[in-house]
Amino acid sequence: MFNLCYNIISDLKGRCKFLIWKISGVIKTLRFIFFVVVLLVLIFCSVFITIMNVYKPTVKVSIGEKFIGYFANKQQFDEVYNTLVAEKEQINTDVKVYLESDPTFATSYVRDSLIADQNVYTNLRAELKTEYTIYNVAVNGQKAMTFNTSDEANKYAASLKTEVAKLNVDVTPEKVAETGEITTIERADSIVRDIVSRNKEVVTPNTKNVIKKYTPTKTVGTTANVAVSAEVANNALAQGGIWPTSSRYISSPFGWRGSSMHTGTDIAGKSGDPIYAYKDGVVTFSGWNASGYGYLVIINHGNGFSTWYAHNSKIIVSAGETVKQGQQISYMGTTGYSTGNHLHFETRINGTPVNSYNYIAAYK
Ligand SMILES: [Zn+2]
Repeated sequence: MFNLCYNIISDLKGRCKFLIWKISGVIKTLRFIFFVVVLLVLIFCSVFITIMNVYKPTVKVSIGEKFIGYFANKQQFDEVYNTLVAEKEQINTDVKVYLESDPTFATSYVRDSLIADQNVYTNLRAELKTEYTIYNVAVNGQKAMTFNTSDEANKYAASLKTEVAKLNVDVTPEKVAETGEITTIERADSIVRDIVSRNKEVVTPNTKNVIKKYTPTKTVGTTANVAVSAEVANNALAQGGIWPTSSRYISSPFGWRGSSMHTGTDIAGKSGDPIYAYKDGVVTFSGWNASGYGYLVIINHGNGFSTWYAHNSKIIVSAGETVKQGQQISYMGTTGYSTGNHLHFETRINGTPVNSYNYIAAYK
């Protein structure tokens, strides 16, 4: 009996021991699994954090096929764009800056080092298109100057017209991608001076050796050749007169033309322009002159001083008539030895032609 009891107890004991051993084995396994899972999570987190630190989410920007760069966001791209536009506008405020196609924005993860290395300014600058409006000034159909603003162009066109009225000056705007060579104010000044000096209408006549070399030609109404009296000349100059024409364009001055003497001052104008008496006097000749003067008027102003008006198309005063300074005496023409409409204006002291330009030079 006791033996049986002992056997049962020791059997139970053995079973319990086995059970306890079994349970502790399960706990050990569970603990192992737990630690492995925790370790895996830790490894994953650290890898994830490392990746997130190196690779940043960015906006990848392209324009058409051209890659521009990675930006933190769209606003950062706009900032770069506006900076580059301002850069262009600093040179010329009238510039129109644009992109040929809209930029495309795509999310992209890239390494920090790549963001630091990129040249977004250079890349975007290369894609910016510009359109400038420039203003060309053409003189007699030839492009002479180019300005940034219409104000500057118009100002120079106006100053040219004021200096030389016969010039044809045009201002035309032009759209260009690049401004090229723009005329500066300083350079425009020198160009204007050059154009004006080449087109100036009044030339100062050459007066050297005039009286000494003079040999008079035979003309109707000429008195005997008497030496020029300085006193008479000075008196006539002191009394003064007016320009016999409204034109101030001297086409040929008094003086030697090669081997022949030009005895008057030629003032060019249009056919039919009025010719005025230089000053008060009496008409001593009015009519045709066969030796080259064509229709000629001679006015005697007294004291040995007379004025001659040649090549007229029509005469409206007669010999013996008294005329007032500024009175119209004839119409401009090209009669006699003449190649174009002009007045051949002569001044004579005691019948000898002297430089008539001296008698009008002081007057407007
Ligand atoms: Zn002449």
